[in-house]
Amino acid sequence: MFVNKVKVACAAFLMCVGSTVYAQNFKVVLDPGHGGKDPGAMRGNYVEKKIVLDVALKVGELLKLDKDIKVIFTRKTDVFIEVQERTKIANREKADVFVSIHVNAAKTLLLMVQNLYNGYQ
Ligand SMILES: [Zn+2]
Repeated sequence: MFVNKVKVACAAFLMCVGSTVYAQNFKVVLDPGHGGKDPGAMRGNYVEKKIVLDVALKVGELLKLDKDIKVIFTRKTDVFIEVQERTKIANREKADVFVSIHVNAAKTLLLMVQNLYNGYQ
């Protein structure tokens, strides 16, 4: 059940990106949340930092199939990166889209959307 939800989320993300990509050299920054000393949400054997890294790497593989999309990762291994550094990477790369991937935990089945903003300094 959990894996199916991840697959649905990945498909929805790809449809969103696919419907907006029309320019060449479209840059997508994929940001697997947490990492290293920050595990994120944990429930049983599920650890958010590992799940989101797997999802990001898979989504990146799929996006790279389109030669007009350049994929940049904020992390590709289990390392901790400060939030501010993550957005600096996107700004430095002049990304068209920045996607921070999280898998939050809840005791009930809810459809949750989390919007995060990080303003320029
Ligand atoms: Zn998270």
